[in-house]
Amino acid sequence: MLGQLGEGAKLLAGGQSLIPLLKLRFANPEHLVDLNFIPGTSFIKENGGALRFGAMSRHAEIENSDLARKIPVLHDCAAGIADVQVRNRGTIGGSLAEADPSGDWANALLTLKTTVHCLGPTGARAIPLQDFIKDAYTTALAHDELVTGVEVKVPPKGSGGAYIAFKRSAPVYPSASAAVQVTMIDDTCQDVAIALGCVGLTSIRATEAEAVLRGAILDAKTIGTAAEAARAAADPQPDMRGSAEYKRQLVTALVKRAITIATLRARGKQVEGTHLYA
Ligand SMILES: Cc1cc2nc3c(=O)[nH]c(=O)nc-3n(C[C@H](O)[C@H](O)[C@H](O)COP(=O)(O)OP(=O)(O)OC[C@H]3O[C@@H](n4cnc5c(N)ncnc54)[C@H](O)[C@@H]3O)c2cc1C
Repeated sequence: MLGQLGEGAKLLAGGQSLIPLLKLRFANPEHLVDLNFIPGTSFIKENGGALRFGAMSRHAEIENSDLARKIPVLHDCAAGIADVQVRNRGTIGGSLAEADPSGDWANALLTLKTTVHCLGPTGARAIPLQDFIKDAYTTALAHDELVTGVEVKVPPKGSGGAYIAFKRSAPVYPSASAAVQVTMIDDTCQDVAIALGCVGLTSIRATEAEAVLRGAILDAKTIGTAAEAARAAADPQPDMRGSAEYKRQLVTALVKRAITIATLRARGKQVEGTHLYA
């Protein structure tokens, strides 16, 4: 249908980004192609060492999935998106396709080996997430292509993660967020990924902070140094959520907290890590 209707057509998933844009007259598509009636597009499965989510999997379905809990970053992310009404409608595929710089999914998934599965008239494509998001509100999707699913490799044994966002209240986007995924061998960090959200046009991988942690024993001093490096990687804009300096300060605190929780989880401890509200 997208191919037949041309560029004036837009897909409708959960409508939690698109409907507000329609109401504000910021989007004015000639046609809406509603994905909600296509069977088999909402699922959560484990296969070949990876979790696979149908594009129409709602945030709430992922929040309540025992499979998704295997990768704590996913549960943390899903459970903290907006409020229950938005989580009941909004989808993982719609969130990635929207590529909102403040959206939670892209930031959390960037710390994992994530592939976005897409389908168009010329066939299927599997695009690594880091290549799928091109810029703010811009993805690698062609106008007649859609997201069919999201695949996340289950991290190796000894891994743990955490995703924490700081919000003024539940139904608003975060002021800043941090996702951390670590793999530990005893007390030493073997591998790590850190992604920062809402402090740039797209999520930012804090590679210098990662370099501080890789191969190191994760004590308070090392974690503090990494958090400072993450702060330097952030590129926030001042807006109604706070000044640039305030958001940099948030990044430092969120990264410290996320590394601490991720490390405890990598050691097999059950630690609740929720979003923080002002
Ligand atoms: C009050 C409120 C608060 C919110 N707070 C947060 C928050 O804190 N964190 C957060 O991450 N999000 C937040 N959101 C957004 C929410 O998560 C949306 O659900 C999400 O961004 C978009 O998913 P959707 O399924 O609703 O997509 P839709 O709104 O239906 O679509 C969004 C865009 O993606 C396209 N699209 C949808 N599905 C596909 C697909 N399968 N393939 C290709 N293109 C597709 C559509 O054409 C449209 O352009 C909030 C929304 C509201 C209304």
